[in-house]
Amino acid sequence: MPEKLLRQLCENKDPSIAQQIVDISGTKAITDRLIQMKALQPSEPLDIVLCPDCFESHDLSVESDGNEKYSGYCQEAGYVDVPAESLACHTLSFDWLLQQINMAIGLSLAELPEPIECIEQNLWFLGKQRIGQRPFNVYFTRRLRDSSVIKPVQDYLFRNQSDLPTFVITTSSVDSVIAALPKRVVLLNLFETMTFRNGRLILDESIFTLKLKGESYDVITDGIGQHFSSDFRSAMVDGARYTFSKNQAAVMEKLIESDGHAHKDTLSAAANSNQSLKGLFRYKGQYHPAWDVLIKPRGDGFYFCPLYL
Ligand SMILES: [Zn+2]
Repeated sequence: MPEKLLRQLCENKDPSIAQQIVDISGTKAITDRLIQMKALQPSEPLDIVLCPDCFESHDLSVESDGNEKYSGYCQEAGYVDVPAESLACHTLSFDWLLQQINMAIGLSLAELPEPIECIEQNLWFLGKQRIGQRPFNVYFTRRLRDSSVIKPVQDYLFRNQSDLPTFVITTSSVDSVIAALPKRVVLLNLFETMTFRNGRLILDESIFTLKLKGESYDVITDGIGQHFSSDFRSAMVDGARYTFSKNQAAVMEKLIESDGHAHKDTLSAAANSNQSLKGLFRYKGQYHPAWDVLIKPRGDGFYFCPLYL
């Protein structure tokens, strides 16, 4: 499984691995596979390698004779030959990784958004995506355990707050840093959200959906995709803001109290008004923006709130 190596590379400041390390760490099969997938790309030949003569116990500066023959000076053995393949080094392609993540999330999109690098080599905006009808922003970030990284990432997210719910996907283990993020922003671990299968990342959609809706399916407080104020006079759903009159708020409260499903008579009674339910959500010939979005007719006198679906 390439996850472990990918995580290690992402969490290194320099996201690369020397061929010598590949050979002694037993990761050759996985490394070769990543090279084949173009996830790893060749970087500049190394000028410092592990001494081939002392079982790799110390570094050696590489000298070239100009004819692709290399050597280095070892305190123990004098000048030793360094095989050319020992100079090889592989670097993780973030273009590849970000495209994989975007493909995993945006399967249903006709065109995938192009990632934007927000903080050099540390934070990328992968674009606006959606699962079903629910829109959200996606970022990728790494090395959050480094205090010189977490602070600029947090600052960026606070400066660029959005009404849309936002997922920040990371390879860092995040427990200790999760505290300070803007509202409606959730940090998710890449490999807890997606797994590699047949050379591509596959998304576990339920994790995203659960965060949007709230883990307890409490549409009032819990999810980053939906929130009602405690008096039901305002709501934020999928990036759209709604405000309700007192009567409308009473209807919404009743509908939500009834687990998102109630008869129209019950709902208009909650508003304590002579107006029909439709009339309560109509003003100067215009329906309220929440009508048919957050409160929808089922066609048999019952109404439902799709946030409960
Ligand atoms: Zn040596």
